[in-house]
Amino acid sequence: MSEKIALSTWPTPMEPMPRLAAALGLHEDDLWIKRDDLIGLGGGGNKVRKLEWLVGAAVEARADTLVTTGAQQSNHARLTAAAGARLGLDVVLVLPGTSDSAANASGNLVLDSLFGARVFWAGDGHPGGMADVAEDVCRQLSRDGARPYLIPFGGSSPLGARGYVEGGEEIRSQLPDVDHVVVAVGSGGTMAGLTGALGEERVLGVHCGAVADPAATVAALAGPLTPHGIAPDSLRIRTDQVGAGYGVLHEPVLEAMRTTAATEGIVLDPVYSGRAMAGLIAAVRDRDIRRGERTVFLHTGGLPGLFGHAETVHRSVTALHSCDPV
Ligand SMILES: *Cc1c(COP(=O)(O)O)cnc(C)c1O
Repeated sequence: MSEKIALSTWPTPMEPMPRLAAALGLHEDDLWIKRDDLIGLGGGGNKVRKLEWLVGAAVEARADTLVTTGAQQSNHARLTAAAGARLGLDVVLVLPGTSDSAANASGNLVLDSLFGARVFWAGDGHPGGMADVAEDVCRQLSRDGARPYLIPFGGSSPLGARGYVEGGEEIRSQLPDVDHVVVAVGSGGTMAGLTGALGEERVLGVHCGAVADPAATVAALAGPLTPHGIAPDSLRIRTDQVGAGYGVLHEPVLEAMRTTAATEGIVLDPVYSGRAMAGLIAAVRDRDIRRGERTVFLHTGGLPGLFGHAETVHRSVTALHSCDPV
């Protein structure tokens, strides 16, 4: 197997969240946050751990161009663009939309171009269904004399998931008695890697609506990382935070974002980490997570995505805080 290429400084911090714990009715030292949002490449986030392995394979294959897919506000696309910039590789992002989308770019799309990535607009369709378009783009690049390397949707393959086997080992060395690790499930590689390191019982995934069957997706990615394979129904996955669907804001998520920001000064994003926190809060309410148990919330990043939804988030919070000048 190929070697990984370091893209940041490790380990990321593990910090207590005593004020949020108290607000949820937990002991002050029950709740911790693993700061993968502070990973030091391209604005940070969970995709960097996967990309260390994936770009390692790309460089070993002597590729000169990274190609990947995602939603318009894809954090994975943004971090692939940053990794390419760091390593001197070209990057082509295959995203849903048309060149009109570029004119109204916000959030991650702005950063994609700042990192020098090119965008191939794939028209309308589900981001997970763009693999065929990405393969066509790779064939065209090869005809033009480039050496493309296709990185899967969300960086989620058994190879990419190795990054979160390491992430899970890091968590265990920082907090050996951890009972629960709560994580957003998008393309599934992050939960898969954590499950490989920590086992099925300790990892609680919160489905964000990006894939049709999260348990089957995570099990397929995690199986090759363990000697015995993983059964989908052995995984703990909450599906109660999907709301109206992937990327659509819903009130419990905004509530979780407000509570976390107001008690700890930590910003979550509306698509993934905010949903994961809403799932953690729901798990405390229905006693899947109890007082006296040690819980780690994995902050997977995603802050630029907030600015892809800036108006809605802004409307939902400003009404509460305006006050008259004295
Ligand atoms: C991609 C992403 C996730 C989900 O990770 P997967 O490995 O795709 O399941 C969670 N949070 C953020 C901010 C992400 O960008």
